[in-house]
Amino acid sequence: MTGTRPRHLKLRKAVIAAARQLEPLGINRGTSGNVSVRAGDGLLITPTGISYDALTPAQIVWMDSDGRYDGDWLPSSEWRFHCDILRERPDLNAIVHTHAVHATALACHGRGIPAFHYMVAAAGGRNIRCAPYATFGTAELSANALRALKDRRACLLANHGLIACGYTLNAALALAVEVETLAAMYLKALEIGEPVELDDAEMQRILGKFATYGQNPASARR
Ligand code: 13P
Ligand code: ZN
Repeated sequence: MTGTRPRHLKLRKAVIAAARQLEPLGINRGTSGNVSVRAGDGLLITPTGISYDALTPAQIVWMDSDGRYDGDWLPSSEWRFHCDILRERPDLNAIVHTHAVHATALACHGRGIPAFHYMVAAAGGRNIRCAPYATFGTAELSANALRALKDRRACLLANHGLIACGYTLNAALALAVEVETLAAMYLKALEIGEPVELDDAEMQRILGKFATYGQNPASARR
């Protein structure tokens, strides 16, 4: 980065604002998790291991789609899956990764979220998959996550956490909250046995209704 005003200043501030919402929204603690957004032909991502309270726009790292970065700050250790998802999924512009408690508890059993509730369709399909475990920051974890995200905007990561994506940062944040809420509901429902699941035809119907749900049909798709 050169000069005093970093490139993409507005987007850098939006990344910081999103990262600072993770804890008040109840979906993350401490320096776990990371946030990115598409910026030009690359992306902006939170730096590794820095408290979100202390973040400044200059510390947000710009990377190209191959993972090359500039500036004095190291990007999130999870830059691979952020880069890979944004490269492979032109329908998505923003990514939130957190260690939300309930989603992570399910993922520690290698379990995703089935169609026990119609809102599961908010992630784009009939279930929310759990990607198999791989070490954090690896290309293997990225490949597993990309597979779990096929035709979806969210997935769990075994023994780790969740990824939620969206057309905008706000949409990605909202979906992360939704996934965590569904995980909490599913864990609660499991306390008295396996809950009833909605069938594929009903989930297809819900997905169709979601395409036009809300005040603004175009934004409901996000
Ligand atoms: P970073 O601080 O490197 O973003 O890592 C946090 C994390 O959640 C790793 O999976
Ligand atoms: Zn993580």
